[in-house]
Amino acid sequence: MSESKSFDTLAIHGGGAVSPNGSLAPPLYQTSTFTFESAEQGEARFAGIEEGYIYSRLGNPTVKLLEERIAILEGGEAGLSFGSGMAAVSAVLLALTKSGDHILCSQGLYGCTFGLLQMMEEKYNINHDFSDMDDEEEILSKITPHTKLIYIETPINPTMKLIDLQKVVTIAKRHHIPVVVDNTFCSPYLQQPIKLGCDIVVHSATKYIGGHGDVIAGLVIGKKDFIQHVAMTTKKDIGGIMSPFDAWLLLRGLKTLPVRMDRHCDNTEKIASLLKEHKNVERIFYPGDPESPAYEIMKKQMRRPGGLISFTIKGTKKDAQNILNRVKLIKIAVSLGDTETLIQHPATMTHAVVPEEARLKMGITDHLIRLSVGLEAWEDIWEDLKQALNG
Ligand SMILES: *Cc1c(COP(=O)(O)O)cnc(C)c1O
Repeated sequence: MSESKSFDTLAIHGGGAVSPNGSLAPPLYQTSTFTFESAEQGEARFAGIEEGYIYSRLGNPTVKLLEERIAILEGGEAGLSFGSGMAAVSAVLLALTKSGDHILCSQGLYGCTFGLLQMMEEKYNINHDFSDMDDEEEILSKITPHTKLIYIETPINPTMKLIDLQKVVTIAKRHHIPVVVDNTFCSPYLQQPIKLGCDIVVHSATKYIGGHGDVIAGLVIGKKDFIQHVAMTTKKDIGGIMSPFDAWLLLRGLKTLPVRMDRHCDNTEKIASLLKEHKNVERIFYPGDPESPAYEIMKKQMRRPGGLISFTIKGTKKDAQNILNRVKLIKIAVSLGDTETLIQHPATMTHAVVPEEARLKMGITDHLIRLSVGLEAWEDIWEDLKQALNG
């Protein structure tokens, strides 16, 4: 399918066809291994002389279709799939670094990414630093001769601060340092970091790409050589692969990604404006708010502001917990990007492991609540949230 087609079309048709019998849905190759017609064919496949499948940890047709489709949607050369977002993140970080190297990260990473970086420092002497990535001087002051990559999340969870990707890319290119972006919160529909000059994109496909709260999976997109390198090293030998069935579910999820994202964004706009006016809400954190410091960057690099909103209430931790306890339609859960609206309390849930001082510095106070706005009618979401806020 030509890459000149629109995103919405490519989400449904992108990638090579694997439908030998004309089935409309892609076939699910639920197999561990592939048979050879002869000993010589087996030899040729292992030698790389003949193209073809060997064993599903090394490649599988259903998984390959997903990898082709996500690469097209992100505007990258090639894609690679993993059993979870963290398997994708760890395979990339381990592929790019060795003992003695240094990683420069954005402030406020996904909790397990933070944990992985700590483990890499303690066990393998691969060090890291944090930067808020706002200020060129400050970024430059943290780049060392050992810096092998810049790792960014934008929007930052849960305060929804944005990082200007083009600004970071300009600095990184001058120093020949690859930029890796965790694009989970946006999905390729809202933000395409590779088109902005970034080198590698990672996803927790568990979130918007799957979109239905029924799969845990990860994806990586980048240059062909890099993807091939990861496929044949950290992916093959550590082995955090995606099952063919999960790839099949993600291919189904991707078909409706543009439609779902627009509805997530529509609903979130409504809920954000209503929350902002509510008497018990102190402040909202939402890149679509024209008063947000993130607004200008959002307009520059995102199609729309996304489906997440955080807010502080006028009250205590107990008051925040009581709001969670009063919702009925909305579900109390971590994760995001599902059809269901999910509410969580970052200070005691997603960011509970962050020491209090660091947590408060990140703006994660005890009266902060995060909402992943789902696909229900916004009127019903608001009615539930309003009764919970009113108490
Ligand atoms: C959920 C998430 C991850 C981890 O993904 P899993 O699929 O849960 O392993 C990484 N980064 C971000 C931003 C996430 O939200």
